[in-house]
Amino acid sequence: MKRTTVDTLTARQTALAESLSRESLDAWQLDRLNATLRHVTASPFYRRHLTGIAPLNSLADLSRLPFLTTGDLRSEGLNLQCLSQSEIARIITLNTSGSTGAAKRIAFTSGELKATREFFREGMENLLRPEERVLVLLPADRPDSTGDLLRSCLPEKGHPTFIHWPPGTPQQCAAVVEAHGANCVIGLPQHLLSLAETLGKRHPVCTVLLNSDYAPPALRQRIEACGITTFLHYGATETGLGGGVECDHHHGCHLREADILVEIIDPQTGVPLAEGETGEIVLTTLRRRAMPLIRYLTGDSGALTRQPCACGGITTRLLDIHRHQGCDTPQGFLSSRQLDDLFFALPGLFDYRAALAPEGLHLEYLASEEISPSHFTPPSGIPLASAKRVPGWTQKHTFKRILRDLR
Ligand SMILES: [Zn+2]
Repeated sequence: MKRTTVDTLTARQTALAESLSRESLDAWQLDRLNATLRHVTASPFYRRHLTGIAPLNSLADLSRLPFLTTGDLRSEGLNLQCLSQSEIARIITLNTSGSTGAAKRIAFTSGELKATREFFREGMENLLRPEERVLVLLPADRPDSTGDLLRSCLPEKGHPTFIHWPPGTPQQCAAVVEAHGANCVIGLPQHLLSLAETLGKRHPVCTVLLNSDYAPPALRQRIEACGITTFLHYGATETGLGGGVECDHHHGCHLREADILVEIIDPQTGVPLAEGETGEIVLTTLRRRAMPLIRYLTGDSGALTRQPCACGGITTRLLDIHRHQGCDTPQGFLSSRQLDDLFFALPGLFDYRAALAPEGLHLEYLASEEISPSHFTPPSGIPLASAKRVPGWTQKHTFKRILRDLR
């Protein structure tokens, strides 16, 4: 088993090269946290938000600090910035579909984008063997987007890298894979699933990177059944696009701990949870200078393990990652995760969108011919109001698969 490359990268970025251990990394992170607390006094928002905060004596002291919410990011905007405009290389405005008010905007320096690029380049070495070729099924037209960074950094490790976006039909995608002889494909789980099941018996793909906040186990099993090994990547704009990636052991995403510190809290009480317990993922950045985030409530759920991994790595791993998104119903909470687990277990179903209306669940789906509306039975006795096959997604569909509430 190959040791995670995230450890090698973390050792280099923290300058703890020969002595990377849990203890030395904890001490380095505490030092960086206190440096970040000093740095954010340059931001009008943080000056107000963190009034009276003394230097932290331990990582556990972090729990004394207030949370940063999505609402703060939206309403405070540039007040969170800690550098002058001339030092900002890029501001990413986040997709605000389904929400009202100001957009979330996150600023980065060129050094911060470089750190993400480095994480992508080194993190991908968990999946790739020498000279393997990579196809990226993500948009890459915006400079420093995930697709653009991957395209520019992977050739430095000797991996020819190609972009294909939008994915089009699974047949078109499979033809592009064959034409490029791609051994590894990076994309959204549902695109990778439809691709895997469309490729012929003899194909060049060995590994895929699932780039998502949640990859249903049933979906992963279907890709693996095609003879392809799946690796999960956890990341969001707030983590600096990259966040963590699985190793050969596939038991949690090794976090890029030179850049982010993750806590898990009880979403009801805000109290930090013990290792192994599932709760809300809270993010603190450690080296970001443009717009550091301190105890940011991500809305994602997961659990942490700080035990050494079977691969030999000591970086913290994030497990059981999912998003607590869905609708309250008289029958209980209906989550998009439940629907994912249920529907991706249907052989031939590639992707779907769901909306809950007073009359029941409305579905649109992409599937092979053998799937018909009679295959869909929503959970908890919720009636199926409609199930319509679509040939592809239009602009009105959200990029992310969420359960929309139309009631
Ligand atoms: Zn590992």
